[in-house]
Amino acid sequence: MKQTGPGTGNTPADPNVKKYFSTRPSRADNFTESVIREMTRLALKHNAINLAQGFPDFPCPPELKAAACNAVNDDINQYAITWGAKDLRDALAERVGKFNGMRFDPETEITVTCGSTEAMMASMLAVIQPGDEVIVPEPFYENYGPDAQISGAVPRFVPLKDDFSIDEEKWKEAFSKRTRAVILNTPNNPTGKVFTRKELSFIADLCIDHDAVAITDEIYEHIVYDGHRHLSLASLDGMRDRTITIGSFSKTYSVTGWRVGYALADEGLTGRIRKIHDFLTVGAPAPLQRACVAALMLPESYYVGLAQDYDRRRRILFDGLRNAGFSCQLPEGAYYIFTDITGFGMTDTEFARFLIGKIGVAAVPGSSFYHEGGETKLRFTFSKKDGTLEEACRRLEKLEEIITPA
Ligand code: PLP
Repeated sequence: MKQTGPGTGNTPADPNVKKYFSTRPSRADNFTESVIREMTRLALKHNAINLAQGFPDFPCPPELKAAACNAVNDDINQYAITWGAKDLRDALAERVGKFNGMRFDPETEITVTCGSTEAMMASMLAVIQPGDEVIVPEPFYENYGPDAQISGAVPRFVPLKDDFSIDEEKWKEAFSKRTRAVILNTPNNPTGKVFTRKELSFIADLCIDHDAVAITDEIYEHIVYDGHRHLSLASLDGMRDRTITIGSFSKTYSVTGWRVGYALADEGLTGRIRKIHDFLTVGAPAPLQRACVAALMLPESYYVGLAQDYDRRRRILFDGLRNAGFSCQLPEGAYYIFTDITGFGMTDTEFARFLIGKIGVAAVPGSSFYHEGGETKLRFTFSKKDGTLEEACRRLEKLEEIITPA
């Protein structure tokens, strides 16, 4: 007789059985699907220009494409070592030594992951015990909320000041005996803030005083403007062995779909991260890991060009948004403009849906970057070709005819 029900691989005959399983409580009930990715789906449906999700609409460097094709043709098609192909870890150790001024042993202190998304999740699962408190500056990249829920962390959201700098008093108040970790993202999504040496030193001192681990998401490290400099928290005195530095190939090399990122941490933390990583994903795609070695061989001029190109795109979108009546500042780093929409008289979600449906431009509602609030903000990305941004700005000009900002 044909078996049905859980574990048999067949659809249960009784529909109530199915309902029973989907109505039992689950940790997935504590958060919603990603709003950013939902906006992408809506943009596709309405044929809107997608300035919501931060992925480039231009090609990656040709050296990477050639290396990926070669890797497949060379039959690099089976699992890599779970914590990353040796040649990639070796190349990362060299690059991080040169650019970030930090020494990590590729044998014991570097883990290659499926994007920085997995690196963050694996790091939090490796460090946090359910009930531990985690400090999260707000606004924050939306994944950190669900990451905290999944890992059982109790998030302590600490608001940034209006200019997105660190409010020292609020940070001091947020730390307690239960603080286990701090999640920091610099250059920052969505605010564009690049944290200064003074701010990072202040955070470092708090981490040291409270014996907390810092988990830093530095995936926009090469995208900084106007003389701002990216600084890795782990490079500060006393922080190397209590920081997990997370990086990714996604943004620096315009390959968000390749899913290759990494975590750098001392041997003890790395041992734990590697175990979680192994059972979560086994490993990042092997041929693309090989191609990422080619990315790390690109000359310094590549990084200079990357920042210059984004600077130009930043100005195109900034001018377009200001002309259309948005209130915003030029970001210091990363590739987003976080706007204030108070003058338009709609909430962030109403306005985002209006922009997609009536104007043909998608952005992300600000509330997805806050645990509470954010309804007066919208985030736009400028990780797009000049032509895409110019067309989006032309469409946004129509806003004035339809609604007049107060
Ligand atoms: N961290 C931040 C701050 C991001 O903005 C993003 C993507 O937008 C990610 C992580 C995800 O990066 P990855 O493609 O490496 O998983």
